[in-house]
Amino acid sequence: MKIDQSIFHPEYKREPYWWEAARPGTQYSTDLPTSTEVLIVGSGYAGLSAALELAREGRTATVVDAMAFGEGASSRSGGGVSAGINIGKGLSGGPGQQTLSDAHQNTIIGLMSESLAAFEFVQTLIEREAIECHYERHGRFVGAFSKAHYPGLAKKAEFLNQHIDLDASVIPYEEQRSDIGSDFYHGGMVIKRAGKLHPSLFHKGLLDACNRSGVTLCAHTKVEAITGADHNFKIETSRGICRAEHVIIATNGYTGALTPKLRNRIVPISSQIIVTEELPEDLARELIPNGRTISETPRITSYYRMLPGERRVMYGGRARFHDVPPDVSATLLYRMMTDRWPQLKGTRITHSWSGFVAMTTDALPHMGEVDGLHFCTGCNGSGVAMMPYLGRQVARRILQGGQTDCAYGKIDFPGVPVPLYRGHPWFLPVVGEYYRYLDRRDRRNNT
Ligand SMILES: Cc1cc2nc3c(=O)[nH]c(=O)nc-3n(C[C@H](O)[C@H](O)[C@H](O)COP(=O)(O)OP(=O)(O)OC[C@H]3O[C@@H](n4cnc5c(N)ncnc54)[C@H](O)[C@@H]3O)c2cc1C
Repeated sequence: MKIDQSIFHPEYKREPYWWEAARPGTQYSTDLPTSTEVLIVGSGYAGLSAALELAREGRTATVVDAMAFGEGASSRSGGGVSAGINIGKGLSGGPGQQTLSDAHQNTIIGLMSESLAAFEFVQTLIEREAIECHYERHGRFVGAFSKAHYPGLAKKAEFLNQHIDLDASVIPYEEQRSDIGSDFYHGGMVIKRAGKLHPSLFHKGLLDACNRSGVTLCAHTKVEAITGADHNFKIETSRGICRAEHVIIATNGYTGALTPKLRNRIVPISSQIIVTEELPEDLARELIPNGRTISETPRITSYYRMLPGERRVMYGGRARFHDVPPDVSATLLYRMMTDRWPQLKGTRITHSWSGFVAMTTDALPHMGEVDGLHFCTGCNGSGVAMMPYLGRQVARRILQGGQTDCAYGKIDFPGVPVPLYRGHPWFLPVVGEYYRYLDRRDRRNNT
């Protein structure tokens, strides 16, 4: 693919913008203890939130990570905070406007109510731990990618208000410029109960809170094997051996050969982001006048927002489902961004990066136990609220002797419907191309 060098700022970096304020590091990292009550694999939002809950209840918890703390998705995300799950998206790839089948409606309502609890939990954590992470609740605009998607959004808004009080409403095409300075969409839906934050500052706040609460933290400690059973696990790592009564797997899109039964149930998909240089004040003000986050209805969706300070754009999407070099994803995302905002042509990119999210066949996150190991996984690209919440729920499950009230711990966790799938998603480029074709067709036909 031809890379257009003129889109890059002279100070362009191939790493997350967020790391300028809080770079994943090894602060607080210690030697691996020989034993702990609960060992947690993964230092993202899920792992830290689980550890915090356990420590607050007087348990000894140890968090280990193969990389620096938070170097996985948790310091790379778009920082959109939403209540709600991606009904009809995930691996099935259905467009967001599809209607719900009655059979699933009740289960979905239960799960969605809990996703609202997850949304509120983010605020609780931020306030309780005094985390400064530019958290703002200005809502979210979901753009209709084709005319035919708009009635589906209207139905969805009605459903969301009726069942989980999300304060959703539809915005017709003629009025959408009050939410986004673009004519690209065919109207949209606004969900007032949504927000945005600075993902790596949020992560740093959780890490500080873990340290204050006495959690043992071990960076660059890759878990290579786990043997034994409940109350007597032996964890072999790149920095020694530790014994634990319980183990939590919080590895999400970075799940590997350590836990084959989990790896075989999720598909790691790359998500990519670019950030622009600072824009002139007038131009910046017209892009997202209400400070919302933006998402949209096609199979391959984009998510975008203004950065703290409201002068720079962050544009994210699945330019490709598999990982591609940052200059390639930047070129593709730039085209998508300027399709939506032609007024940004000529603006230069300062940062481009990617990370992995975990998709599931039913598009739902899951928690539970496999081979005696506790887990939560499957954020399907929306984990800023859900993964801290599920981390806490997994911890509560241990504290309650294996009992849980959490709806995500009570549903089946289906496998990936690809014969002989072993965690290597060889089919992603093909699926990605097919979805892109369907989206182009929908848009062209306006269906
Ligand atoms: C580019 C991008 C944009 C996103 N945008 C949004 C958004 O706007 N809104 C939203 O809600 N969500 C978004 N997400 C999703 C969200 O970031 C994730 O759901 C969330 O951060 C997952 O947290 P986690 O703790 O479960 O996993 P992660 O933060 O991914 O952490 C998993 C950790 O496990 C570690 N690990 C794996 N294997 C081992 C091992 N064997 N030993 C030790 N450690 C191991 C990894 O090193 C990694 O640090 C985005 C994700 C990406 C990548």
